[in-house]
Amino acid sequence: MKKPAVFLDRDGTIIEDVGFIRDVAQVEFYPQTIAALRRLRDFVLFIVTNQSGIAKRLVTAAEAKTVNDYVVRHLAEAGVEIQEVYCCPHARDDRCECIKPNPYFPRLAERDHGIDLTRSFVVGDHPSDIQLAQAVGAEAVYVLTGHGQKHRAELQCENAIVAGIEQASERIVCLYAASMLRAGGVVALPTETVYGLGADASNEAAVRRVFSIKGRPANHPLIVHIGDTSNLTEWARTIPEAGLQLADRFWPGPLTLILPKGPRVSGVVTGGQDSVGLRVPNHPLALQLLREFRGGIAAPSANRFGLVSPTTAEHVRRDLGENVDFVLDGGACDVGVESTIIDLTSITPTILRPGGVTQESIEEVLGRRVPVVDVSEVRVSGQLKTHYAPRAAVVLTTAEALPQQAEKLREEGRRVRILSEDDIAPRELFASLRKADDEGVEVILVADPPNHGLGLAVTDRLLKAAAPRTPPE
Ligand SMILES: [Zn+2]
Repeated sequence: MKKPAVFLDRDGTIIEDVGFIRDVAQVEFYPQTIAALRRLRDFVLFIVTNQSGIAKRLVTAAEAKTVNDYVVRHLAEAGVEIQEVYCCPHARDDRCECIKPNPYFPRLAERDHGIDLTRSFVVGDHPSDIQLAQAVGAEAVYVLTGHGQKHRAELQCENAIVAGIEQASERIVCLYAASMLRAGGVVALPTETVYGLGADASNEAAVRRVFSIKGRPANHPLIVHIGDTSNLTEWARTIPEAGLQLADRFWPGPLTLILPKGPRVSGVVTGGQDSVGLRVPNHPLALQLLREFRGGIAAPSANRFGLVSPTTAEHVRRDLGENVDFVLDGGACDVGVESTIIDLTSITPTILRPGGVTQESIEEVLGRRVPVVDVSEVRVSGQLKTHYAPRAAVVLTTAEALPQQAEKLREEGRRVRILSEDDIAPRELFASLRKADDEGVEVILVADPPNHGLGLAVTDRLLKAAAPRTPPE
């Protein structure tokens, strides 16, 4: 399969534009360049630069090459691979075929490196970078660093304009992920709770793939992530006052509302139920993706069913690898446990899963008691007895019993890990369970799990991790 590429301008895009650069001492990377380019690990990266200083005899070809080699080496040392540097040494008056916006170099990349130009991007601070993208059917991203500010007025496409290389890379991964979703692909996306495994909620085949990648039973509904409340009525046929109040107060945020499903919502998404779970996630990249995509994204956590939820892009890659079409890397998740799920389909709102929004704060908004129900009979996301389970056994105990219990296990020759209060903080919990597995721990002990606030969500996950294991699939 042909690969997508990003064609990066050099001066003013990845390094400061200080005029004609003759020496590596003049090279100043933007502080965001390396992190931004690391996010583009699924793309083949090229530098395409016009060095008219060579034709004007202000820079020698050898000097330009030394500078380009230095840029490539510096990036390589930071783990960013540049496939090739394409450098036009001519001046505009030379009328060469390789100067931007002539599509000479992208065509070379297409031929020599198997690049799919229609799925590729051009990033730069000159209108010629935009024209270059248009010439080959790629997507342009215009940065306001370098000469970007100066030429801004010449541009026709306002939505292609971003502040700098960091925002350019965010825009690229979001546009790319949105195009994947439209094509029926499965994309892992960051949210503030955990990483989700997303598909176009209106595409049944794509949603079925999510179930199959996860090994998730088909009668377990998925949460539909939406960009804002404006299209809520597309998904829910009625929205009670309590739903509007909660959405107003907690969205974007870690709260999922269960509402009667709209007529167009597929039963594949809802696990055959007449209700649908909806939420607006509070993560800048997830929101940017939803804005680009414009539809709903059905997404459970991006891990094998029943196992520990992923809170970094690396967790997703390790768990699901090649099965996912694209992993949108948004760093580590802030909240670290899943959303709170509240059922609004009956007269009494009830919490079906404790999560990132506390029972107390929900009760405050609604001005009434909101019970947390034991949902063994109800099918909602994340509700099976064993869930969120690491390979190690999880044992919940009390502070008094803990020392003796740990000693006994150690005497039996078992590898024991005691999780501290910090280890089970919501944003650390899943990473702590994974770490114990990585280090070959056999029994994880937790004393006095918390029973209020966000701790309720932690304890819910620990109880499920501690539940008797169903035999492995
Ligand atoms: Zn040229």
